[in-house]
Amino acid sequence: MNRCPGCLKAGHKTFCTRCHRTLFGPGSKRVPAVLPFTRPAYDREKVAVTGERLSLSGVQTKMPLALVDGHLQMVQSGGQYILKPRPHGTFLRLEAAPINEHLTMQIARQVFRISVADSALVTFQDGEHAYLVRRFDVQSNGQRSLQEDFAQISGRSPDTHGANYKYDFSYEAIGNLIRRHVATFRVDLERFFTLVVFNYLVNNGDAHAKNFSLIRDDTTSQYNLTPAYDLLNTRLHLPDESRTALDLFQDDFETESFKKQAFYAYDDFAEFAKRLGLVETRFRRIMETFIGKNCDVETLIDASELSDECKGLYKHHVRDRVAALANSLAKLR
Ligand SMILES: [Zn+2]
Repeated sequence: MNRCPGCLKAGHKTFCTRCHRTLFGPGSKRVPAVLPFTRPAYDREKVAVTGERLSLSGVQTKMPLALVDGHLQMVQSGGQYILKPRPHGTFLRLEAAPINEHLTMQIARQVFRISVADSALVTFQDGEHAYLVRRFDVQSNGQRSLQEDFAQISGRSPDTHGANYKYDFSYEAIGNLIRRHVATFRVDLERFFTLVVFNYLVNNGDAHAKNFSLIRDDTTSQYNLTPAYDLLNTRLHLPDESRTALDLFQDDFETESFKKQAFYAYDDFAEFAKRLGLVETRFRRIMETFIGKNCDVETLIDASELSDECKGLYKHHVRDRVAALANSLAKLR
């Protein structure tokens, strides 16, 4: 493909200068977008390095990588990068999962100006795609910043809340924790709201409590929301999944719109924004952005390596959610 494997801009055989710098640091050797090993070699090394058994149902295939002498190498721990190849398992179209995740991260960053982790779509020696993401909690000197996800912050674990612990929560409750722990909470609550709407737009039905985190700034000791990570259109792989991983509201509140239509629409996000304390003009502007940028979203989908079938489905899924986001039963819009 003649596109940058980072930003998908046309006219590049490999990383554009800007993506190379953000992913690998200034002045580093040219890092190829082709990994120095094959997928089978990766699987063998993963078993050898981590001592894990690869099971057919085991979806967890990611592994830390470090930049060694201009090449991305597998390492046991540490490492500034995480590689996520296509998972094993029974979900649909899993070969597209790395492309889907990279594309969705680019849509978030380029179309909606959401702060996301730096990522790229790389390939194994045998041509298979893999998703590469740079860890934002590891600094260039190898130091790790303190990061906690909202399952940890709310004290949820399999022991306390059972196997479903990541899903047994609400976005409103996460918002309340942001207000409690973040000094600049107004800014972060708007970032959080934007991300929840974005996940709805791109059909990410797996944005659970561990997919939002706070990170501590080591100089100021202040906490803030991390850049977004783990964004993808899960409906491509799991068509019957529920629309959101968590309920919007922490009580059993339902808007008139939800009672009639049984899906989240404009009025639900209006109530959610109100509960998070967003200023109404900001809320309206954010919603108009999500409703009005479909052309830009589709341009990026077309620039991706997805198959024609997946491109068509992804566009259809987004149009479906744009319609839902634009739908106000109470005529609030
Ligand atoms: Zn680029």
